Amino acid sequence: MSESKLSEFDIIERYFKRPVTAVDIGIGDDAAVISPTPNMQLAVSTDTLVSGKHFFADTDPYKLGYKSLAVNLSDMAAMGAKPRWVTLSLTLSENLVESHPTWVSEFANGFLELAQTYQIALIGGDTTCGALNIGVQIIGEIEKMRYLRRDGAKPGDDIWVSGHLGGAALALKHLLQEIKLTQHEMDACLRALLTPTARVELGQRLVGLAHSAIDISDGLLADLGHILTSSKCAAVVTLEAVPCSTVMKQYMPSSLALECLLAGGDDYELCFTAPKKNRSEIERIAQLLQVPLVIIGEIKHGTGLSVIDTEGKAVTMVKKGYDHFAS
Ligand code: ADP
Ligand code: MG
Repeated sequence: MSESKLSEFDIIERYFKRPVTAVDIGIGDDAAVISPTPNMQLAVSTDTLVSGKHFFADTDPYKLGYKSLAVNLSDMAAMGAKPRWVTLSLTLSENLVESHPTWVSEFANGFLELAQTYQIALIGGDTTCGALNIGVQIIGEIEKMRYLRRDGAKPGDDIWVSGHLGGAALALKHLLQEIKLTQHEMDACLRALLTPTARVELGQRLVGLAHSAIDISDGLLADLGHILTSSKCAAVVTLEAVPCSTVMKQYMPSSLALECLLAGGDDYELCFTAPKKNRSEIERIAQLLQVPLVIIGEIKHGTGLSVIDTEGKAVTMVKKGYDHFAS
């Protein structure tokens, strides 16, 4: 049977149904049944990737499968939750399956290999026909009341960022032909765009140390802005402290690079705030997990987010972050 003639049920059976543990009833019934660990709370989050909006229709399906789960893992990381279960709502166009017969199996491999890495079970979903759209719901566990949230930042907190920012946005600018990266630069930036590493373990270790946290999906300024709004605080960020990748450094301080670094989106790093007394413990975690963590600024009383350079001059930005309804 050619793959293009596979039914919805064949697709599920063949590509998505894998042996899983930690599930009472998995794929194949009208609903999945799971048993949360006693005394744990559940953290539930959904993220949808729309073709032409969140990814190009011709994106490598393995990487797209990987990224669809990675962006959801990143939400678990931001809450300090341990991801356990996931569901997948997949809308596929007939045209895609016919023109690229291995698309679904490659997508499933990317998704399920990452799930395996984190020991997450794919417990159900929906498979339907239409414009390509990928909806993922993820469920994690948190020890009672021991989660991270956006509204706990306090004046005097350090503002921390993991990893390096802006690489994914540079790759996007290249794909949109707004800039031309070298092949070597493109490889590094494409990795950031298509196979981001969610900071899942970092998030869990920050519980009890960080006052607030968010994952950077819409750009540093926009996402730190959410912490400030929820926490009713202000912040000052020093531009030179914001962690740039080697590629990004070569484009600084052009306005294009600034936009990618501060407002680019798709970074999936964590931004969190923590009292200064926790600095050495946070640095110890960075060492232990081999995750770069740097302080980029400080939480202040009041409202607003200002970015300054090392001389204290304000850095002005036109674009503050990605907003699906504004751009
Ligand atoms: P129903 O018609 O009762 O909604 P479906 O026929 O849509 O059930 O799905 C059959 C089973 O396959 C269900 O257990 C559902 O959760 C699972 N399923 C459907 N699509 C997917 C998918 N893309 N990934 C994982 N499981 C899926
Ligand atoms: Mg259904």
